[in-house]
Amino acid sequence: MSFNLEGKVAVVTGGSSGIGLETVRLLLAEGARVAWCGRNPERLAASEQEMAAAFPGADYLTFACDVLVKSQVEAFAGQVGARFGGADLLINNAGQGRVSGFADTADEDWLNETRLKTFSVIYPVKAFLPLLELSDCPSITNVNSLLALQPEPHMIATSAARAALLNLTHSLAHEFAAKGIRVNSILLGMVESDQWRRRFAERSDRETNWEQWTAAIAARRGIPMGRLGKPQEPARALVFLASPLASYTSGATLDVSGGFNKHL
Ligand code: NDP
Repeated sequence: MSFNLEGKVAVVTGGSSGIGLETVRLLLAEGARVAWCGRNPERLAASEQEMAAAFPGADYLTFACDVLVKSQVEAFAGQVGARFGGADLLINNAGQGRVSGFADTADEDWLNETRLKTFSVIYPVKAFLPLLELSDCPSITNVNSLLALQPEPHMIATSAARAALLNLTHSLAHEFAAKGIRVNSILLGMVESDQWRRRFAERSDRETNWEQWTAAIAARRGIPMGRLGKPQEPARALVFLASPLASYTSGATLDVSGGFNKHL
């Protein structure tokens, strides 16, 4: 079975690292033309070099931009339009989480977290909508977290903001169905990322290797599959939902949490 992505134009926000970078890699491997962004120009350039070496002759574009700055996102969409003439897949992945409970979450933190989780989708959707409307298989796929349905007190602001993003995703799915644009999201549990690698480097028990260290976290948190996810795993879920293979699926959430979900 093929994802049917040959020649399609895919846009990935936050494509310079982790889940976003693995999504870019899979899209390029499937023959898509890919545009991705990130804020840090060095990290973006490194991701571009890595993809250029892995996929010689591939058609891609990178653009340094903060998804929370509307004018920058509009400029990114302008570049994609000028280069590729349209867009078929928009994957909203850029972002990060915030660890804090109610007592140590200031008013400003609540505002920032809500802004990050909603406007990191609102600005790209607004900017890329005219390009998606030119496509014969348009889709928007949002990276979300299981926290949207299963809040955790130690990530109180992120949990609330994730619920807002899930709600927003459903509204967009309904509104855009008439335009033929499918809108879906994935709900992540814990996935290996730079953040986890940094914590591993700072661990007190130097005898523990990466597998033992992450297995201990999974056991502590009660992840049934006994390990953290690899970034390639949500990348595959994202590419499936975004691709024409999922042509009759909209307003759906796909769980990528190693069985950590407890809601029905
Ligand atoms: P990484 O930190 O490895 O990658 C995040 C990517 O997003 C980077 O390319 C980063 O580049 C970019 N980015 C972050 N903020 C912005 C911004 N404002 N504008 C543009 N680009 C931005 O993280 P992951 O791969 O782990 O996470 C990807 C997504 O998954 C995030 O939205 C995260 O919140 C979500 N998630 C991850 C979980 C996990 O366990 N890993 C769990 C639940 C959700 P740069 O910093 O240069 O801008």
